[in-house]
Amino acid sequence: MAKICVIGSSSMDLVVTSSRRPGAGETVLGDSFKTVPGGKGANQAVAAARLGADVTMIGRVGDDAFGTAILNNFKANAVNTQNVKPVTHMESGTAHIVLAEGDNSIVVVEAANREVTPAYVDEAAEVIQRADIVLIQQEIPEETVVRVSEICAQSGTPLLLNPAPARKVPDEVIDKAAYITPNEHEAEILFQGMTPAEALRKYPNKLFITEGSNGVRYFDGEREIVVPTYKVEPVDTTGAGDTFNAAFAVALAEGKPLQESIRFANRAASLSVTKFGAQGGMPMRSEVEESLK
Ligand code: ATP
Repeated sequence: MAKICVIGSSSMDLVVTSSRRPGAGETVLGDSFKTVPGGKGANQAVAAARLGADVTMIGRVGDDAFGTAILNNFKANAVNTQNVKPVTHMESGTAHIVLAEGDNSIVVVEAANREVTPAYVDEAAEVIQRADIVLIQQEIPEETVVRVSEICAQSGTPLLLNPAPARKVPDEVIDKAAYITPNEHEAEILFQGMTPAEALRKYPNKLFITEGSNGVRYFDGEREIVVPTYKVEPVDTTGAGDTFNAAFAVALAEGKPLQESIRFANRAASLSVTKFGAQGGMPMRSEVEESLK
């Protein structure tokens, strides 16, 4: 079993649907409300576990009811939660989502996710060092991403950085990461002053730009390659990127060759967009293998 360590955010998404978005100072009646576990870190951990990896999450929750629900969701998906410790007197991370008029508006409150600090990951350094691959995103403090890249570099553990949400990444992290997987918008922010083609050439077999229904683009040292994804009827693309990153990490950790790993990840991510919700659509290993036949 591939050992994967995911370091990142966990949150509860509070989703309201409404026919109209309220303006400033206005109150409207909504149609429905539900709570769904989310956060890029948690999503990627759950996706990797469903794909058959031995997953340990390093993250934080609050000491509230959402924290308990987030932990229970990890356990239901066979994610090891030994390093997801509640922060006392602090709320869990939440995302407040209004779905109205065919679009969403989101307010994110980081709360306990801010406590995924360099000192906190240092306490779990052994888990990072023992992993076949480490998967990290940017919903935690930048200095923590830097620290994790240092720990990985010291132990030679491959680091997969999914630079989402978009923000500039320190050069030392880009140097130390083994794989970097921005979408097109994140790639623009990450490599300002360079065209995508220039950035790809600068980081052969390391930079993988995901292009939604187009698939994935990278440079293999000689030429630019696009690995197409699979044609599906999309229902909800939320979580496509998270599923892609988790599946890519699982395949690489299992020693699959690069192109095969991308195909596996495209297949898993394309399946995820055929169902509602970020985690709701994340496929099990057997579904991915069956559909690759
Ligand atoms: P999101 O924020 O929606 O989770 P993202 O913007 O991080 O996603 P994308 O580049 O949109 O990332 O998608 C990631 C991968 O998911 C793609 O490379 C592809 O493999 C798969 N994917 C996304 N959308 C589709 C689609 N409509 N059909 C098939 N595959 C898709």
